[in-house]
Amino acid sequence: MVQSSVLGYPRIGADREWKKALEAFWSGKLEEPEFLRQLQDIRLNHLRKQQEKGIDLIPVNDFSYYDHILDTAAMFGIIPSRFSYTGGVVPLSVYYGVARGTKDAAASEMTKWFNTNYHYIVPELSGASPVLTENKPLAAYREAKEKLGIEGKPVIVGPLTFLKLSKGYAPSETDAWLEKLLPLYVQILQELAEEGVQWVQIDEPILVTKLSDADVQHLHHIYTTFADAVPGLKLILQTYFESVENYCDIIKLPVHGIGLDFVHGYAGNLQSIGAFGFPQEKVLGAGVIDGRGIWKASLTGKLELLKELAKAVPSDRLIVQSSCSLLHVPVTVESEANLTSELKDALAFADEKLNELVLMTKAFSSEEATQGELEQYDRAIQVLQQSAVRNRKEIQTAVSAISAQEPVRSAPFAERHAAQQTKWQLPLFPTTTIGSFPQSTEVRKARQSWRKGEWSDKQYAEFIREQIDAWIKIQEEIGIDVLVHGEFERTDMVEFFGEKLAGFAFTQNGWVQSYGSRCVKPPVIYGDVAFIGEMTVEETKYAKSQTSHPVKGMLTGPITIMNWSFVREDIPREQIAYQLAYALRQEVEALEKAGIGMIQVDEPAIREGLPLKAVEQFEYLAWAVKAFRIATCTVQKTTQIHTHMCYCEFHDMIDSIEAMDADVISIETSRSHGELIHSFEQNTYKLGIGLGVYDIHSPRVPSVEEMTGMIDRALRVLDPNLFWINPDCGLKTRGLEETVASLHNMVEATNAARAKY
Ligand code: GLN
Ligand code: ZN
Repeated sequence: MVQSSVLGYPRIGADREWKKALEAFWSGKLEEPEFLRQLQDIRLNHLRKQQEKGIDLIPVNDFSYYDHILDTAAMFGIIPSRFSYTGGVVPLSVYYGVARGTKDAAASEMTKWFNTNYHYIVPELSGASPVLTENKPLAAYREAKEKLGIEGKPVIVGPLTFLKLSKGYAPSETDAWLEKLLPLYVQILQELAEEGVQWVQIDEPILVTKLSDADVQHLHHIYTTFADAVPGLKLILQTYFESVENYCDIIKLPVHGIGLDFVHGYAGNLQSIGAFGFPQEKVLGAGVIDGRGIWKASLTGKLELLKELAKAVPSDRLIVQSSCSLLHVPVTVESEANLTSELKDALAFADEKLNELVLMTKAFSSEEATQGELEQYDRAIQVLQQSAVRNRKEIQTAVSAISAQEPVRSAPFAERHAAQQTKWQLPLFPTTTIGSFPQSTEVRKARQSWRKGEWSDKQYAEFIREQIDAWIKIQEEIGIDVLVHGEFERTDMVEFFGEKLAGFAFTQNGWVQSYGSRCVKPPVIYGDVAFIGEMTVEETKYAKSQTSHPVKGMLTGPITIMNWSFVREDIPREQIAYQLAYALRQEVEALEKAGIGMIQVDEPAIREGLPLKAVEQFEYLAWAVKAFRIATCTVQKTTQIHTHMCYCEFHDMIDSIEAMDADVISIETSRSHGELIHSFEQNTYKLGIGLGVYDIHSPRVPSVEEMTGMIDRALRVLDPNLFWINPDCGLKTRGLEETVASLHNMVEATNAARAKY
């Protein structure tokens, strides 16, 4: 009988009860025993749900108190020495110290989990001597069995992935580290085997990246060690997010099963199986239900795929599973009350995906009985497909005409730069900010009153204007050259635009974990995106009317809007980006017409969409750059286009940034202690650029000297005539006083630089 399997279930709970419990515990409102009890309830609830739906292989140990990579490090006692950890089971205070920092010790670094928006805590290996502090997978297995009678499938982060994601050791020390870690893994597995565990899922997503020969050998060493130590335990080597590289090496490993992603790695994995077959003695975990997307699967299509796979693997050796952990999707569509039925019917979050897995498994075992059911299921997607929202002919025609041309400005940069200098007469090293100013409690309260209907539109608009007035004055007093209106009317840089464009929907409860207790609720781009009316002109125009300085308009770019949303899957992402770009172009043109001569189109998330495979990266960057240019290329040469980037390392994409052809870019630099500056050494960047001179993530006011240091370093590699001075990012999370003080220092540092250069 073919079985259904889940690779991991969301932790946060349908009402984000997990997040609430964590935050209550951190703030001291919840005592540890009660906190542990609440988390156990949540965990058991999730297991029960999967049991009731009829999932065969239910994951255990996928649950976490913060992050599963941190859990793995803690299980091995790998805790940086700056935390006072003395051995044994890692106490919660230390565990959360590593994740969030303490008053004496900085938190460990946090970084993106492959190409998702989930962030994990980077283990720091230097100085650590790993020991097994507790067998967490075993505890999770026992709990599920004792409390619910579930024969759970423990999930463990594999050694190669764990090492590759860790820092604090040299590549040449990999062997030595494996020698330290493998006995601990073996002990875990032996104890699981003794307990009678049947399946263990070992996650090795690193296998979708290109491995060196040495790593292939490591892999071989790891899995033969396991096979020798626990021959009876069924290990499924699990990969996800892409097709595997080194397929032929991987299928030779002595494991019982291999899990492959047939959604995000569809073509590559299918091709490998077609070309090289699949080993007769192994089980194939067929990841056919998308663990990352929010749409219903076409189950008739998935059934065809399973049949295709069954040509290579007999059906009794197939497991029908999610493509990756369901961690990346919201919990359930059920509670959504505000969506149109056309949209709601087409969605499948985690719980609905459980239904899909069960239905698929059933259909695959006895097709006759359920063919009708599958066809019925697929109808919702077809209905949405045919809906008017996905068939705006005028948009499709306009976008295909526009994207067929090369989007170029009317003049090359040198000519634009000269014309802009003549028009704006900016001083050497113009100063500016990234857009937002502090969103005080007053601002947030006002927005809430307005949303609840307690405030009229007029009242709210007046309030926003007062904020703009106040901050225009502050900027003038400080002596900033290019002003902004402050973005007080925006909660979020994507949501704000999504609410004003056609083609977007907003869920009430569609939260997913981003890092720790922080969750995000991405908008849903479900139809053709269309410009309905001006989005930012009123506030920007108002700001401009209050000052004689230039005021920069502020938009979120097409790629950032797309990468921070859940998007439709019936058309390529490239097309969605062009639709967004076309809509934003209309806003850019409206701003220009209203007399706004500087317009910033932010693309902080441009690197986040970068595919894992090199060939695809190239294509992605090409169309992402093109989308930005579609949005910005139609303005006059005197209109200055700005962009802004942050959150990521950009050193490997300077060429693409240059190709965006923005007159000025402001880019985060100080948070990474100026490391980005090196990237410009070989690179003669020829457009306007402001490398952030101070980190905005902390309330600390940086000194003039610090900023002078950053300016001097930058000017060693950049042309002074193209250099701007600005903070790293927007200031909306900062307080009033520290913001004003920091900007004062920034202007002072600028004046000093002007005297010097
Ligand atoms: N203009 C936005 C702001 O200042 C940019 C935010 C961002 O880069 N994340 O808030
Ligand atoms: Zn930013």
